[in-house]
Amino acid sequence: MKRITALLPTILVSASLLFAGCGSADNASPKSAQPETKEVNVYTARHYPGIDDAIYKTFTDKTGIKVNIIKASSEELIQRIKTEGAASKADIFFTADAGNLYMAKEAGLLQPIKSAALEKAIPANYRDKDNMWVGLTMRARVLVYAKDRVKPEELSTYEALTEPKWKGRILVRSSNNIYNQSMLAAAIAIHGEEKSKEWAQGIVANMARKPEGGDRDQAKAVAAGIGDVAIMNTYYLGQMLTSKDAEEVKAAQKLGVFFPNQSTTGTHVNISGAGVVKTAPNAANAVKLLEYLAEAEAQRIFAEASVEYPVNPAVEPSALLKQWGSFKPQDINLSKLGENNRRAVQILNEVGWK
Ligand code: FE
Repeated sequence: MKRITALLPTILVSASLLFAGCGSADNASPKSAQPETKEVNVYTARHYPGIDDAIYKTFTDKTGIKVNIIKASSEELIQRIKTEGAASKADIFFTADAGNLYMAKEAGLLQPIKSAALEKAIPANYRDKDNMWVGLTMRARVLVYAKDRVKPEELSTYEALTEPKWKGRILVRSSNNIYNQSMLAAAIAIHGEEKSKEWAQGIVANMARKPEGGDRDQAKAVAAGIGDVAIMNTYYLGQMLTSKDAEEVKAAQKLGVFFPNQSTTGTHVNISGAGVVKTAPNAANAVKLLEYLAEAEAQRIFAEASVEYPVNPAVEPSALLKQWGSFKPQDINLSKLGENNRRAVQILNEVGWK
Protein backbone atom coordinates (compact mmCIF):
# COMPACT_ATOMS: atom_id res chain seq x y z
CA MET A 1 0.00 0.00 0.00
CA LYS A 2 2.78 2.43 1.01
CA ARG A 3 4.41 2.07 -2.39
CA ILE A 4 1.18 2.64 -4.24
CA THR A 5 0.51 5.80 -2.22
CA ALA A 6 4.01 7.05 -2.95
CA LEU A 7 3.45 6.54 -6.67
CA LEU A 8 0.14 8.35 -6.62
CA PRO A 9 1.28 11.87 -7.64
CA THR A 10 2.92 10.52 -10.81
CA ILE A 11 -0.07 8.41 -11.70
CA LEU A 12 -2.43 11.31 -11.11
CA VAL A 13 -0.40 13.67 -13.29
CA SER A 14 -0.39 11.32 -16.25
CA ALA A 15 -4.02 10.45 -15.65
CA SER A 16 -5.11 14.09 -15.65
CA LEU A 17 -3.36 14.52 -18.99
CA LEU A 18 -5.34 11.59 -20.30
CA PHE A 19 -8.52 13.00 -18.86
CA ALA A 20 -7.92 16.37 -20.49
CA GLY A 21 -9.17 14.99 -23.77
CA CYS A 22 -12.19 13.19 -22.41
CA GLY A 23 -15.90 13.85 -22.49
CA SER A 24 -17.95 17.01 -22.64
CA ALA A 25 -17.97 19.54 -19.82
CA ASP A 26 -21.49 20.72 -20.52
CA ASN A 27 -23.14 20.45 -17.12
CA ALA A 28 -26.53 21.43 -18.49
CA SER A 29 -26.93 18.30 -20.58
CA PRO A 30 -27.80 14.98 -18.94
CA LYS A 31 -25.11 12.28 -18.93
CA SER A 32 -27.10 10.11 -21.31
CA ALA A 33 -27.06 12.85 -23.93
CA GLN A 34 -23.27 12.97 -23.97
CA PRO A 35 -21.53 11.61 -27.04
CA GLU A 36 -20.23 8.08 -26.71
CA THR A 37 -16.61 8.12 -25.59
CA LYS A 38 -13.92 5.52 -26.15
CA GLU A 39 -12.54 5.37 -22.66
CA VAL A 40 -13.34 4.33 -19.12
CA ASN A 41 -11.71 5.57 -15.91
CA VAL A 42 -11.14 3.00 -13.17
CA TYR A 43 -10.35 4.09 -9.62
CA THR A 44 -8.96 0.91 -8.13
CA ALA A 45 -7.63 -0.20 -4.76
CA ARG A 46 -6.62 -3.63 -6.03
CA HIS A 47 -2.95 -4.10 -5.41
CA TYR A 48 -1.72 -7.03 -7.45
CA PRO A 49 0.80 -5.45 -9.83
CA GLY A 50 0.46 -6.31 -13.50
CA ILE A 51 -2.41 -8.75 -13.11
CA ASP A 52 -5.38 -6.47 -13.67
CA ASP A 53 -3.53 -4.43 -16.31
CA ALA A 54 -3.26 -7.47 -18.59
CA ILE A 55 -7.03 -7.96 -18.46
CA TYR A 56 -7.74 -4.29 -19.16
CA LYS A 57 -5.48 -4.53 -22.20
CA THR A 58 -7.49 -7.47 -23.55
CA PHE A 59 -10.68 -5.46 -23.03
CA THR A 60 -9.19 -2.51 -24.96
CA ASP A 61 -8.06 -4.81 -27.79
CA LYS A 62 -11.60 -6.19 -28.09
CA THR A 63 -13.65 -3.02 -27.73
CA GLY A 64 -11.35 -0.13 -28.60
CA ILE A 65 -12.24 1.39 -25.20
CA LYS A 66 -9.15 2.68 -23.42
CA VAL A 67 -8.90 1.94 -19.70
CA ASN A 68 -7.34 4.70 -17.55
CA ILE A 69 -6.28 3.58 -14.09
CA ILE A 70 -5.94 5.50 -10.85
CA LYS A 71 -4.60 3.48 -7.93
CA ALA A 72 -4.86 4.32 -4.25
CA SER A 73 -6.26 2.82 -1.07
CA SER A 74 -10.01 2.34 -0.80
CA GLU A 75 -10.31 5.17 1.76
CA GLU A 76 -8.28 7.53 -0.41
CA LEU A 77 -10.35 6.76 -3.51
CA ILE A 78 -13.66 7.26 -1.68
CA GLN A 79 -12.38 10.58 -0.34
CA ARG A 80 -11.16 11.58 -3.76
CA ILE A 81 -14.48 10.84 -5.49
CA LYS A 82 -16.25 12.85 -2.77
CA THR A 83 -13.88 15.79 -3.18
CA GLU A 84 -14.11 15.77 -6.96
CA GLY A 85 -17.89 15.79 -6.76
CA ALA A 86 -19.80 16.23 -10.03
CA ALA A 87 -16.53 16.93 -11.85
CA SER A 88 -15.10 13.50 -11.01
CA LYS A 89 -13.82 11.51 -13.96
CA ALA A 90 -14.25 8.26 -12.03
CA ASP A 91 -16.42 5.72 -13.85
CA ILE A 92 -15.67 2.59 -11.83
CA PHE A 93 -14.78 2.20 -8.16
CA PHE A 94 -13.00 -1.14 -7.75
CA THR A 95 -11.87 -2.44 -4.36
CA ALA A 96 -11.44 -5.49 -2.16
CA ASP A 97 -14.05 -6.39 0.44
CA ALA A 98 -17.81 -5.99 0.36
CA GLY A 99 -17.44 -3.77 3.44
CA ASN A 100 -15.55 -1.17 1.39
CA LEU A 101 -18.12 -1.33 -1.42
CA TYR A 102 -20.87 -0.79 1.13
CA MET A 103 -19.08 2.35 2.37
CA ALA A 104 -19.02 3.80 -1.15
CA LYS A 105 -22.70 2.95 -1.56
CA GLU A 106 -23.61 4.53 1.79
CA ALA A 107 -21.67 7.66 0.86
CA GLY A 108 -23.96 7.97 -2.18
CA LEU A 109 -21.10 7.56 -4.64
CA LEU A 110 -22.54 4.72 -6.74
CA GLN A 111 -25.41 4.29 -9.18
CA PRO A 112 -27.52 1.18 -9.81
CA ILE A 113 -26.06 -1.09 -12.49
CA LYS A 114 -28.57 -2.28 -15.06
CA SER A 115 -27.17 -5.37 -16.74
CA ALA A 116 -28.84 -8.68 -17.47
CA ALA A 117 -25.41 -10.11 -18.32
CA LEU A 118 -24.02 -9.32 -14.85
CA GLU A 119 -27.13 -10.70 -13.16
CA LYS A 120 -26.71 -13.89 -15.12
CA ALA A 121 -22.94 -14.24 -14.57
CA ILE A 122 -22.74 -13.42 -10.85
CA PRO A 123 -24.71 -15.23 -8.13
CA ALA A 124 -27.11 -12.95 -6.21
CA ASN A 125 -25.31 -13.25 -2.87
CA TYR A 126 -22.16 -11.76 -4.46
CA ARG A 127 -24.05 -8.69 -5.73
CA ASP A 128 -25.45 -5.73 -3.82
CA LYS A 129 -29.16 -6.14 -3.26
CA ASP A 130 -29.78 -2.69 -4.82
CA ASN A 131 -27.38 -3.46 -7.70
CA MET A 132 -24.91 -0.79 -6.57
CA TRP A 133 -21.92 -3.16 -6.85
CA VAL A 134 -20.96 -6.59 -8.12
CA GLY A 135 -18.38 -9.06 -6.86
CA LEU A 136 -15.76 -10.00 -9.48
CA THR A 137 -13.40 -12.32 -7.61
CA MET A 138 -13.94 -14.35 -4.47
CA ARG A 139 -11.69 -15.37 -1.57
CA ALA A 140 -12.14 -17.51 1.52
CA ARG A 141 -10.84 -16.68 5.00
CA VAL A 142 -9.40 -20.04 5.99
CA LEU A 143 -7.29 -21.68 8.67
CA VAL A 144 -3.66 -22.07 7.61
CA TYR A 145 -1.80 -24.49 9.85
CA ALA A 146 1.73 -25.80 10.45
CA LYS A 147 1.76 -29.25 8.85
CA ASP A 148 4.41 -30.53 11.28
CA ARG A 149 2.56 -29.47 14.43
CA VAL A 150 -1.16 -29.58 13.64
CA LYS A 151 -3.18 -32.43 12.20
CA PRO A 152 -6.13 -31.31 10.08
CA GLU A 153 -8.34 -33.60 12.21
CA GLU A 154 -7.68 -31.26 15.14
CA LEU A 155 -9.36 -28.42 13.27
CA SER A 156 -13.09 -28.00 12.77
CA THR A 157 -14.65 -24.55 13.12
CA TYR A 158 -13.75 -20.89 13.77
CA GLU A 159 -15.52 -21.33 17.11
CA ALA A 160 -13.31 -24.26 18.16
CA LEU A 161 -10.24 -21.99 17.95
CA THR A 162 -11.39 -20.39 21.20
CA GLU A 163 -10.87 -23.65 23.13
CA PRO A 164 -8.08 -23.70 25.75
CA LYS A 165 -5.96 -26.12 23.67
CA TRP A 166 -5.25 -23.27 21.21
CA LYS A 167 -3.99 -20.84 23.83
CA GLY A 168 -0.97 -18.90 22.52
CA ARG A 169 -1.23 -20.58 19.10
CA ILE A 170 -3.54 -18.40 16.96
CA LEU A 171 -2.25 -15.78 14.52
CA VAL A 172 -4.43 -13.12 12.92
CA ARG A 173 -3.91 -9.54 11.77
CA SER A 174 -5.18 -6.43 13.52
CA SER A 175 -8.82 -5.39 13.71
CA ASN A 176 -8.09 -2.15 11.85
CA ASN A 177 -8.19 -4.23 8.72
CA ILE A 178 -11.53 -4.63 7.01
CA TYR A 179 -11.05 -8.38 6.40
CA ASN A 180 -11.43 -9.10 10.12
CA GLN A 181 -14.23 -6.56 10.49
CA SER A 182 -16.10 -8.31 7.67
CA MET A 183 -15.42 -11.75 9.15
CA LEU A 184 -17.02 -10.61 12.40
CA ALA A 185 -19.83 -8.82 10.54
CA ALA A 186 -20.65 -12.13 8.85
CA ALA A 187 -20.56 -13.90 12.22
CA ILE A 188 -23.04 -11.34 13.58
CA ALA A 189 -25.37 -12.06 10.65
CA ILE A 190 -25.15 -15.81 11.30
CA HIS A 191 -24.82 -16.16 15.09
CA GLY A 192 -25.98 -12.81 16.51
CA GLU A 193 -24.01 -10.16 18.40
CA GLU A 194 -23.61 -11.90 21.73
CA LYS A 195 -22.08 -15.12 20.39
CA SER A 196 -19.89 -13.18 17.98
CA LYS A 197 -18.51 -11.08 20.82
CA GLU A 198 -17.75 -14.20 22.86
CA TRP A 199 -15.96 -15.64 19.85
CA ALA A 200 -13.85 -12.51 19.29
CA GLN A 201 -12.98 -12.51 22.98
CA GLY A 202 -11.93 -16.16 22.79
CA ILE A 203 -9.69 -15.50 19.78
CA VAL A 204 -7.97 -12.58 21.56
CA ALA A 205 -7.38 -14.87 24.56
CA ASN A 206 -5.67 -17.46 22.35
CA MET A 207 -3.53 -15.19 20.19
CA ALA A 208 0.13 -16.14 19.81
CA ARG A 209 1.10 -12.44 19.79
CA LYS A 210 -0.37 -8.99 19.56
CA PRO A 211 -1.62 -8.64 15.95
CA GLU A 212 0.97 -7.30 13.54
CA GLY A 213 1.46 -7.29 9.78
CA GLY A 214 -0.85 -8.45 7.01
CA ASP A 215 -2.27 -11.89 6.18
CA ARG A 216 0.93 -12.98 4.47
CA ASP A 217 2.86 -12.18 7.67
CA GLN A 218 0.58 -14.50 9.66
CA ALA A 219 1.46 -17.35 7.28
CA LYS A 220 5.15 -16.57 7.65
CA ALA A 221 4.77 -16.51 11.46
CA VAL A 222 3.20 -19.98 11.40
CA ALA A 223 6.07 -21.24 9.24
CA ALA A 224 8.53 -19.65 11.70
CA GLY A 225 6.87 -21.36 14.68
CA ILE A 226 5.49 -18.19 16.34
CA GLY A 227 2.02 -19.73 16.28
CA ASP A 228 0.35 -22.82 14.84
CA VAL A 229 -2.80 -21.63 13.05
CA ALA A 230 -3.38 -18.43 11.08
CA ILE A 231 -6.75 -17.03 10.03
CA MET A 232 -6.13 -15.57 6.57
CA ASN A 233 -7.33 -15.15 2.99
CA THR A 234 -6.67 -17.94 0.53
CA TYR A 235 -5.03 -15.87 -2.23
CA TYR A 236 -2.18 -14.73 0.03
CA LEU A 237 -1.08 -18.30 0.53
CA GLY A 238 -1.68 -18.99 -3.17
CA GLN A 239 0.47 -16.02 -4.14
CA MET A 240 3.21 -17.17 -1.74
CA LEU A 241 3.20 -20.65 -3.29
CA THR A 242 3.48 -19.17 -6.80
CA SER A 243 5.96 -16.46 -5.74
CA LYS A 244 9.32 -15.76 -7.39
CA ASP A 245 10.77 -15.40 -3.89
CA ALA A 246 12.16 -18.82 -2.93
CA GLU A 247 11.89 -18.04 0.81
CA GLU A 248 8.15 -17.36 0.47
CA VAL A 249 7.63 -20.60 -1.41
CA LYS A 250 9.60 -22.51 1.22
CA ALA A 251 7.54 -21.01 4.05
CA ALA A 252 4.24 -21.66 2.26
CA GLN A 253 5.15 -25.30 1.63
CA LYS A 254 5.21 -25.91 5.39
CA LEU A 255 1.56 -24.91 5.62
CA GLY A 256 -1.77 -26.62 5.11
CA VAL A 257 -5.16 -25.11 4.26
CA PHE A 258 -8.29 -25.98 6.23
CA PHE A 259 -11.80 -24.81 5.34
CA PRO A 260 -13.60 -24.41 8.67
CA ASN A 261 -17.29 -24.90 9.49
CA GLN A 262 -17.92 -27.36 6.66
CA SER A 263 -20.52 -29.35 8.57
CA THR A 264 -22.02 -26.22 10.13
CA THR A 265 -22.32 -22.65 8.81
CA GLY A 266 -19.67 -22.68 6.08
CA THR A 267 -16.36 -20.88 5.56
CA HIS A 268 -16.30 -17.08 5.56
CA VAL A 269 -15.95 -15.68 2.04
CA ASN A 270 -15.57 -12.18 0.69
CA ILE A 271 -15.15 -10.60 -2.72
CA SER A 272 -13.28 -7.94 -4.54
CA GLY A 273 -15.74 -6.05 -6.64
CA ALA A 274 -16.76 -2.84 -8.32
CA GLY A 275 -19.53 -0.30 -8.76
CA VAL A 276 -20.32 2.38 -11.32
CA VAL A 277 -19.73 5.86 -9.89
CA LYS A 278 -22.86 8.04 -9.71
CA THR A 279 -21.26 10.88 -11.68
CA ALA A 280 -19.52 8.56 -14.19
CA PRO A 281 -18.89 10.42 -17.46
CA ASN A 282 -18.61 7.10 -19.31
CA ALA A 283 -21.21 4.99 -17.52
CA ALA A 284 -22.06 2.82 -20.54
CA ASN A 285 -18.39 1.90 -21.00
CA ALA A 286 -18.14 1.19 -17.28
CA VAL A 287 -20.94 -1.37 -17.52
CA LYS A 288 -19.27 -2.88 -20.60
CA LEU A 289 -16.00 -3.32 -18.69
CA LEU A 290 -17.76 -4.89 -15.70
CA GLU A 291 -19.61 -7.26 -18.02
CA TYR A 292 -16.31 -8.23 -19.60
CA LEU A 293 -14.69 -8.87 -16.22
CA ALA A 294 -17.54 -11.20 -15.29
CA GLU A 295 -17.32 -13.16 -18.58
CA ALA A 296 -15.77 -16.63 -18.51
CA GLU A 297 -12.65 -15.62 -20.46
CA ALA A 298 -11.75 -12.71 -18.18
CA GLN A 299 -12.79 -14.53 -15.03
CA ARG A 300 -10.35 -17.29 -15.81
CA ILE A 301 -7.31 -15.04 -16.29
CA PHE A 302 -8.40 -12.60 -13.63
CA ALA A 303 -8.92 -15.13 -10.85
CA GLU A 304 -6.04 -17.37 -11.91
CA ALA A 305 -3.38 -14.66 -11.90
CA SER A 306 -4.15 -13.45 -8.38
CA VAL A 307 -5.09 -16.94 -7.13
CA GLU A 308 -8.64 -15.85 -6.28
CA TYR A 309 -11.82 -17.82 -6.93
CA PRO A 310 -13.94 -16.82 -9.94
CA VAL A 311 -17.40 -15.52 -8.97
CA ASN A 312 -18.90 -16.79 -12.22
CA PRO A 313 -19.95 -20.40 -11.47
CA ALA A 314 -19.36 -21.34 -15.13
CA VAL A 315 -15.60 -20.93 -14.53
CA GLU A 316 -13.53 -23.43 -12.60
CA PRO A 317 -10.94 -22.30 -10.07
CA SER A 318 -7.22 -22.58 -10.92
CA ALA A 319 -5.43 -25.91 -10.57
CA LEU A 320 -3.81 -24.78 -7.32
CA LEU A 321 -7.13 -23.84 -5.74
CA LYS A 322 -8.65 -27.11 -6.94
CA GLN A 323 -5.88 -28.97 -5.11
CA TRP A 324 -7.16 -27.44 -1.87
CA GLY A 325 -10.57 -28.96 -2.60
CA SER A 326 -14.04 -27.51 -2.88
CA PHE A 327 -15.80 -26.06 0.11
CA LYS A 328 -19.09 -24.81 1.44
CA PRO A 329 -19.16 -21.00 1.86
CA GLN A 330 -21.26 -19.10 4.39
CA ASP A 331 -24.73 -18.64 3.00
CA ILE A 332 -25.35 -14.92 3.44
CA ASN A 333 -25.72 -11.96 1.12
CA LEU A 334 -22.42 -10.09 1.33
CA SER A 335 -24.29 -6.78 1.78
CA LYS A 336 -24.48 -7.90 5.42
CA LEU A 337 -20.73 -7.37 5.76
CA GLY A 338 -21.26 -3.65 5.27
CA GLU A 339 -24.51 -3.42 7.22
CA ASN A 340 -22.91 -5.01 10.30
CA ASN A 341 -19.52 -3.28 9.96
CA ARG A 342 -20.08 -0.60 12.60
CA ARG A 343 -21.19 -3.11 15.24
CA ALA A 344 -18.31 -5.43 14.34
CA VAL A 345 -15.77 -2.62 14.83
CA GLN A 346 -17.31 -1.79 18.22
CA ILE A 347 -17.10 -5.41 19.35
CA LEU A 348 -13.48 -5.74 18.18
CA ASN A 349 -12.61 -2.67 20.24
CA GLU A 350 -14.59 -3.90 23.24
CA VAL A 351 -12.73 -7.23 23.35
CA GLY A 352 -9.32 -5.59 22.90
CA TRP A 353 -8.52 -7.09 19.47
CA LYS A 354 -5.66 -4.71 18.62
FE1 FE B 1 -5.85 -8.39 0.21
